[in-house]
Amino acid sequence: MRRRRSRRQPLEQQAQRPQPTLQQPQSALTLHSNPEHTSASPQQVLKLQRIVGNQTVMRQLGRSERTRSSAIQRRLTLDQAPITAYSDLDSQAQDFIIKQCTSSFIVQVPETVATIISEIIASGEQIDCSLPELAQLVSSIGQVYLIGEDVQDQRAQQIGLRMRQNDERISEQSGVFGKGLASTGRGNALATLDLMEEQQGLMRYMEQIKLKFIFNSSKAKGIGGMYGDGVVHLEDKLGKEPKDVFLRTLIHEIGHATFQQRLLKDKLDPQVSQGDFGDIQQEITRLDQEITNMTQGQVEDMRKVKLGRMQNLWQQTERMGELVEQQELLQRELQKFEGDGLAFYNAWLVLRQDEGRYMLGVDLGSVMNPTGRQKYQAEKFEEFCAESFMHIVKEPQMLYQHVDMLRENGEVPGNVINAWDTALDVLRNHYVVIRDS
Ligand SMILES: [Zn+2]
Repeated sequence: MRRRRSRRQPLEQQAQRPQPTLQQPQSALTLHSNPEHTSASPQQVLKLQRIVGNQTVMRQLGRSERTRSSAIQRRLTLDQAPITAYSDLDSQAQDFIIKQCTSSFIVQVPETVATIISEIIASGEQIDCSLPELAQLVSSIGQVYLIGEDVQDQRAQQIGLRMRQNDERISEQSGVFGKGLASTGRGNALATLDLMEEQQGLMRYMEQIKLKFIFNSSKAKGIGGMYGDGVVHLEDKLGKEPKDVFLRTLIHEIGHATFQQRLLKDKLDPQVSQGDFGDIQQEITRLDQEITNMTQGQVEDMRKVKLGRMQNLWQQTERMGELVEQQELLQRELQKFEGDGLAFYNAWLVLRQDEGRYMLGVDLGSVMNPTGRQKYQAEKFEEFCAESFMHIVKEPQMLYQHVDMLRENGEVPGNVINAWDTALDVLRNHYVVIRDS
C-alpha cells in the first residue's frame, strides 16, 4: 500500500513541543479491582457515615465518585484481562510492545508507547486483543500520530488523528494557562483544556485579573503549588500525578488567586491567619475592657504612692503598652476583610476545631491525604478559602453531601452546622459571580 506522507512536520520533532510525559497510573483506577468498592451507592455511603464517622466515609465517597466516572474506561482487554492504565501491563508486555514499535517510531519510544496506550484507554473503544495485536495497534497509531501517515486500520487511524488534534489543542488553545501547560503531562494538559470548556466564566475572570501560571516552577518545589503576586506556581512532580490530583491542586491555587482575594484586601498577619486571636471583634472588645481596668488600677496605685508599689506600676505600664499594640494590630487586620470575608473567617474559626474534623478533606495523592487536607485547612484561613473554592468548582456535590451528613448526624454541634451554612452562602455568592463572568 502506498502511504501518503504528510507535509506537516511531525509534532514530535518540533522544537517547542515538549516530549510526551509518561502518564502515571491513576491510583484511583487500581481500586476498582477490589469489588468491595465498586458496589457502594451514595445512599449506602450516607448510611455508612452514621456508623463509622466522617473521614472513612469521605474516602468511600471519593471512591464511588471515581467508580462512576471510570466505569466506561474499562474497555481495553488484553487476553481478557482489563487494562485500565499503562502500568497494568507487566514489564514483559511493555518491553514487547516497545520492541515492536522501535522500528516505526523516531524518538522517545517508551514514553510514546505509554502515551498511546493511555489514549487507547481514554478513547473508550471496545478492544479485545492479544499482545501482538496490541503491539501492532500501538505501532499503527504511532505512524499516524508521529509521522502523519495514513494506515488501513480505521481504529488506529482515528485514535492517531485524535492524538494529533489533542496536541494542537494543547499547544494552541492553552489560553490563560499559557504555552507552559504543554509541559505538565499530556493527560493533565488535556484535562485542563476540558476544565477550560466547562468553566469559561472562570477563565474570563482569570484573564481579567491577569493571572499567570508557571508550570514546573522551582518556587513550588516540594509543596505541589503556591500562589503569590499574581502568579500560580505548580511543581514539576504534579505532571506525573493522576489528572484528578493535578486538577484539584491547580484549582486550589486558582482559589487563592480569585475567591480568597475577593474576601481579603491585603495579606493577613500570620497570627490572624492561624486563628490565634479567635473572633477578632470580640478580642478587640475584651482588650478594651482589660486596658480600662488596668488604667483604673494604676490610678488607685498612683493615689497611694508607696515605694513598694512602683515596681508593680512599671510592669503594668509595660503590659498595657502590649495590649494597646495588640488591639491596634487587630483593628488594622479587621480593615483587611472585604464584604462578607469576616463572616467566612468567623465560620472558619468554628470549623477549624479539633484539627478540622468537620471540614471536608479530599485526596490529593502524594500532595496530601484527606485527613491531612482537613488539618491543613484548619491551620490557615487562606487554605480554607482555596480548598473550599476547589470543592465548589471540582466536586460541589461532595461538598453539599458532606454538610448534609453533618446535619443529619445528631452528634455534630449546632454552631458547626451554622458555620457551614454561612460558609456555603459566602462561597456560593462569590462563585456565582466568578463563574458567570
Ligand atoms: Zn494553598
